[in-house]
Amino acid sequence: MTLMDSPALPSTARHEALVHEHSAHNYHPLPVVVADAEGAWVTDVEGRRFLDCLAGYSALNFGHRHPDLVAAAHRQLDRVTLTSRAFGNDQLGPFCAELSGLLGKQMVLPMNTGAEAVESGIKVVRKWGYEVKGVPEGRARIIVAAEGFHGRTTTIVGFSTDPDARGGFGPFTPGFDVVPYGDLAALRAAVTPDTVAVLVEPIQGEAGVVVPPDGYLAGVRETCDAHRVLFVADEVQAGLGRTGHLLATRAAGIDADVYLLGKALGGGILPLSAVVADGDVLGVLRPGQHGSTFGGNPLACAVGRAVISLLEDGDVLERARDLGAHLHDRLAGLVGHGVRAVRGVGLWAGVDVDPRFGDGRAVSEALAARGVLVKDTHGATIRISPPLVVTRGELDLAVDALGETLSR
Ligand code: PLP
Repeated sequence: MTLMDSPALPSTARHEALVHEHSAHNYHPLPVVVADAEGAWVTDVEGRRFLDCLAGYSALNFGHRHPDLVAAAHRQLDRVTLTSRAFGNDQLGPFCAELSGLLGKQMVLPMNTGAEAVESGIKVVRKWGYEVKGVPEGRARIIVAAEGFHGRTTTIVGFSTDPDARGGFGPFTPGFDVVPYGDLAALRAAVTPDTVAVLVEPIQGEAGVVVPPDGYLAGVRETCDAHRVLFVADEVQAGLGRTGHLLATRAAGIDADVYLLGKALGGGILPLSAVVADGDVLGVLRPGQHGSTFGGNPLACAVGRAVISLLEDGDVLERARDLGAHLHDRLAGLVGHGVRAVRGVGLWAGVDVDPRFGDGRAVSEALAARGVLVKDTHGATIRISPPLVVTRGELDLAVDALGETLSR
């Protein structure tokens, strides 16, 4: 008899035991094993329903199984799913044209995961530094922000300030200068003639939805312009609607030179990421210098095109702005009642809970027991980022559940 058949254990425990035995222990999930999902709701293997207020860390901006996105995937599944880039496919060109058009840039480099978009962006700006800016070979430097999160590859964790993310994984790639987030003076002081790029999140997601001070992104832009440095905005989590805007950088009135996108670009169906920039930057890549077997595959591009259509429509952004204002109004009412502070914009909130009610993990577990899924980050902070298709009533339900959890 296998663990899965053991009648002594409830099915959640059986699934957890299997994962514990056969999957690497690189996550510590909440005790919820999802079996199916629709819109803002998931159902677990025991038939319990939960309101998903995490939305795959923004990968599910359009909710679970959005009908337009599922239909696009089905249509493409019946035609062709993978060609590799050894041949062309009839979804790649339209996808790149539509995405670059949406962002007002000239070119797209399609990849798969967010970390790959970041890695690809790093390669591109280094090459731009040598070939266009004239930095001596091997000396390019990139300025990044402390507490930032850009993924899990060795180069990326090498410039992380989170000891868990980097500990034990060295030696690391050189060429990165870390400055405090939101500190323009530190950023300016870090620029050298070898600096090729500043790579930051316009809002730091993993750090607890940290919104930079007013004028910070504009100051980054000015500093980059003054020193011929590329501004690379990692919009993997912040972009594509989460803040109620297409891009968080644009909401601040700023145009970056390079946008890194991921998560929601794949519609919550498959991994699809992209580096988006003008031809003077992305044009530095020539055949053989970068690639990915799955990057730009027709199935991902077809889903990505359907995502772009939803974003072009604009309704989803307006909805996220309106509902986001409501969410933040309601959360503000909990400050002083179990909540110490709330940060964020749009349908995105970092909530610092009063440690008297336990850490973020304990609060997330208590919320799950009330049918609301969120996830903790860094001690006493929980992150709320429901799908943008959530309703006002569902948001009230989530905030009420949080209020009740913190009033016991
Ligand atoms: N960049 C940012 C801002 C992110 O939040 C994340 C993931 O959370 C990544 C990059 C990495 O994306 P992925 O997990 O798809 O590699």
